[in-house]
Amino acid sequence: MDTWQLPWSASCLCGQVKRPVTKAPVVSMACHCTDCQKLTSGPYSLCLLLPADGFEVIEGAPVTGGLHAEIQQKFCPHCKNWLFTRMPGFAFMNFRPGMLEDAGWARPVIETMTREPLPCATTGAEFSYDGFAAPEDYGPAMAAFAGHGAWPPAP
Ligand SMILES: [Zn+2]
Ligand SMILES: [Zn+2]
Repeated sequence: MDTWQLPWSASCLCGQVKRPVTKAPVVSMACHCTDCQKLTSGPYSLCLLLPADGFEVIEGAPVTGGLHAEIQQKFCPHCKNWLFTRMPGFAFMNFRPGMLEDAGWARPVIETMTREPLPCATTGAEFSYDGFAAPEDYGPAMAAFAGHGAWPPAP
């Protein structure tokens, strides 16, 4: 049985950008940094770490925004919805589960930058870091995610 039930339908708010997810995420994360608060206009960002080629391109051409040229924040050119983040040369990308038709199952296993949270922002993440996670932090978190992390509901 395909536990992940891929591909997952995914689109922006207005529907002009369609990028179904074709590869399973390796971990889920929430980030409390002030940049993510600005990007989401919310308490924190939620993402699924996907293989960099984990999308099928169907419709629309996201544009790059954000502050830092080396971190490509991708937005819908029409509705300006923040969709995903690519870091050139990195094997993974950050996918915003808000693009999913049903993101109700998505919850973070890791949370980062807990030194900058909004007081209302509690995530229940199992691995919590004051700053950004270090490379060696990902192994245990990925194992936890694979074992008992966020999974889509069984059909
Ligand atoms: Zn859109
Ligand atoms: Zn952040």
